[in-house]
Amino acid sequence: MDRYKGKKIAVVGLGISNIAVVSFLLKHDLKKLSLFDTRPNPPYAEEVPGGVDFNLGPLNVELLKEYDMLVVSPGLSINMPEIKAAADAGVEIVGDIELFAFEAKAPIVAITGSNGKSTVTALIGYMLEKAGINTAIGANFGNPVFDILSDRVEAYVLELSSFELETTKSLKIEAGVILNVSEDHLDRYDGSLEKYAQAKRRIFTNCNKIIVNRDDKRTYPVIKEQNERIFSSFGLDNKEYGREVTDQTTYLCVNGKRVMDARDLIICGIHNELNALAAMALADAMNIPREVQIQALKTFSGLEHRCQLVRILEGVSFYNDSKATNVASAEAAISGLSPRHKEGIILLAGGIGKGQDFTPLKRYIGKEVSKVYCFGRDAQKILDLDSKRCVSVLNMRQAIRQAFAESKDGQAILLSPACSSFDQFKGFDERGRVFVNLVNNLISKDDLV
Ligand code: ADP
Repeated sequence: MDRYKGKKIAVVGLGISNIAVVSFLLKHDLKKLSLFDTRPNPPYAEEVPGGVDFNLGPLNVELLKEYDMLVVSPGLSINMPEIKAAADAGVEIVGDIELFAFEAKAPIVAITGSNGKSTVTALIGYMLEKAGINTAIGANFGNPVFDILSDRVEAYVLELSSFELETTKSLKIEAGVILNVSEDHLDRYDGSLEKYAQAKRRIFTNCNKIIVNRDDKRTYPVIKEQNERIFSSFGLDNKEYGREVTDQTTYLCVNGKRVMDARDLIICGIHNELNALAAMALADAMNIPREVQIQALKTFSGLEHRCQLVRILEGVSFYNDSKATNVASAEAAISGLSPRHKEGIILLAGGIGKGQDFTPLKRYIGKEVSKVYCFGRDAQKILDLDSKRCVSVLNMRQAIRQAFAESKDGQAILLSPACSSFDQFKGFDERGRVFVNLVNNLISKDDLV
């Protein structure tokens, strides 16, 4: 049966995921397919295939109410008054993942959390591929789900943001995890961490094997029936998927047994040990042999813009962690790198603060972090943490040059902004590329003047 036949459907918000939705819906015998976007010149407009009715500018509630279904982009909140009014009038509100749920035939692994999603998504995807399973990776990381939909796929790995989960209820997940919940996107959740966590917990609705983080209660289901579907947990201590810390090293363990020496991981830091454990738990839930998991963990070199060493110049190491768009991720980067840089870290931070509380960063300043160069829209919030060691600069270029000028042999200069980038860049990847280019253009300290 064609679920869409004879329906009037509006795609609201133009982005790459909804372009893929439009192409999918055009294959069906709809009564009408329209596109709404509040921007007069939305990006990707020229990529929309013909046969779609365009409505640009402020959303017209009366028009929206005439549709059977709105496919809302994850960039728009379903709590917008216009969308709420349409929902109250009986219009079905979905996102691309909800539509995908009815089309995907292969088992799905799903990952959400405030930090580490892309890393764990890439890792479990790599493990499945190494096990000879034809795997497609997508959603918030990689390609839109409708671009990876295929009958040839044997397993899907989906990174799901809280925004995507808000409009998803039918997705059947074989193995799913919430990695952690920390302050992020609070501007979209009325400042409530609990509301944000609730959106993430929607991942458990139809999840067969649930994996939780023992150190973070917000990653556990709150519905009794869902608790029965907990497959396992990961965490810092040595239970289930855990860690044994010795004087020499740390071992990744399963049920108390050593599985691998953490020094064999290419990705560094305790947060990445936890990411590796979460990936192992997902892999076990998907019956991937342990040897394959270990081989994958030993050869996975990490993703661009996540704690990547760019260069060492005059003994100073430059790291690009542009993907650290919230406070917890910057904390993870500082903790992960500080054992390697006892001489100290100079932090470059700032951008859009998304309503976060920056005080957790304070405890590193004057200890692991010797100085912070702050730039971007919400720089003042970081400057307020320490009037002596937090210094205002105009932009990233100035931050890099001043940091390098005062750095000492053995120190690290770390771009881990704890903020999103949209005040100054197109996204975290552009911010990372600008940083890498500027760093690669440095010649020597003497040359800075
Ligand atoms: P996401 O997709 O959730 O943004 P990424 O895997 O892209 O996560 O990592 C983004 C940043 O978050 C990294 O650069 C690192 O600083 C930090 N990070 C990664 N994994 C974790 C984790 N498990 N806990 C806390 N911070 C993490």
